[in-house]
Amino acid sequence: VKLTLIRPNMGERKAADTLQPLAIAVLAGLTPPEVEIEFVDDRIEAIPWDRATDLVALSVETFTARRAYRIASHFKQRGIPVIMGGYHPSFETEEALNFADTVVCGDAEGIWEQVMADGLKGGLKRVYYGNPSRDLQGVKYDRSLFKGKKYAPLFPVQFGRGCRYACDFCSIHAFYRNNLRQRPLPEVVAEIAESGHRYFLIVDDNLLIDSVKTGAFLSALKPLKIRWVTQISIDITHNSKLLQLMAESGCLAVMIGFESLDPRNLAQMGKRANLTNRDYALAVKKLRDLGIMVYGSFLFGYDFDTRDSFEPALEFAIENQLFLANFNPLTPMPGTGLYHRLRAENRLIYEVWWNDPYFKYGDAVFQPRGMTATELTDGCRSNRYRFNRYSSMLRRMLDSKANGSSLENLAIFCGANWISRIEIHAKQGAELGGASGTVGG
Ligand code: SF4
Repeated sequence: VKLTLIRPNMGERKAADTLQPLAIAVLAGLTPPEVEIEFVDDRIEAIPWDRATDLVALSVETFTARRAYRIASHFKQRGIPVIMGGYHPSFETEEALNFADTVVCGDAEGIWEQVMADGLKGGLKRVYYGNPSRDLQGVKYDRSLFKGKKYAPLFPVQFGRGCRYACDFCSIHAFYRNNLRQRPLPEVVAEIAESGHRYFLIVDDNLLIDSVKTGAFLSALKPLKIRWVTQISIDITHNSKLLQLMAESGCLAVMIGFESLDPRNLAQMGKRANLTNRDYALAVKKLRDLGIMVYGSFLFGYDFDTRDSFEPALEFAIENQLFLANFNPLTPMPGTGLYHRLRAENRLIYEVWWNDPYFKYGDAVFQPRGMTATELTDGCRSNRYRFNRYSSMLRRMLDSKANGSSLENLAIFCGANWISRIEIHAKQGAELGGASGTVGG
């Protein structure tokens, strides 16, 4: 039996910043040896539309759902059963079942073995549910499928899943709720040590779990002499001991969700960590003083934002010499409190924006209160473009503390900013799923 695993793209353009998809490595690790696996990463390679296979499985996120539905339709027309899993089908199960034969909701561990057993017998059920509180001990990542594929030189590793905060726009919170779990430290350390790589992305949603667990993790990284990046909530900057440990264990950069400079917006989104850490400049300074580069993320469109909110955020990002920055229109993801609220308030412009032919990447999808939807789209696009101008890059590069503190940091800064500039211009305005009617096959 042959299983084709597919990681769909957002559209048809191949990207330059693609990371190894860990979800695929988990599925491969759980698939019994009698099943032959072919893996296709639609983000970097062509889909073999007509190649023989017995089963197709797609790992789907909201921004790739439209493309996934097109791919699924093609294989179903060929009479091949299609399975979907991931965040999006877990939230929009009925929708996904219009295109797939089977949907796996939640984590794959503990249920994928059953899906495969049923698939081998030709008796797949319509829906399977993973156990959201299952222990992460023994999770096996089979990365042999990635051999020969061109990924960014950052090796992704997971310590834990979930976040202790509950921001109303966040899919992570909607998916994991209070099921925060970590893998046993020795398993993570062995995986890093055996990989032979130097640069790692710790893919956790928020590495600051609590000071004890995060401290133990950082202490375990220290002897490995690696360089790593991650996402972390801003309250890490209140803990000087953990900050020091981060620097000593090889932390190169962190992504922090600053989201908004207006505390009224932070209160509305439930961003508790930021409400109690309002001095963003001081937070950035503490990290940069230790040589850690800061990637900032900003959201626009909460009720207290107006068209005057964009400029101060851009100025903050350039003045504080951020490594990279995102300026995103608030986008209600399925399953989140935000999505339900905006729908109940009748403010969604496209109710199913992820599968709407008129929606383009970067568009506002709801009616904000303090500006028009067009102003929201344009303000974010303008900040994205201006932050990625060469003059901004030069200003941010001239930073002897972090971005330009060593030849290594400088090379990473230049490479990452160059790719970010290309990707931002290429993605803005792109149609999800690719140009209409060009699935291929
Ligand atoms: S802190 Fe970040 S990961 Fe955690 S709930 Fe908020 S947005 Fe999501």
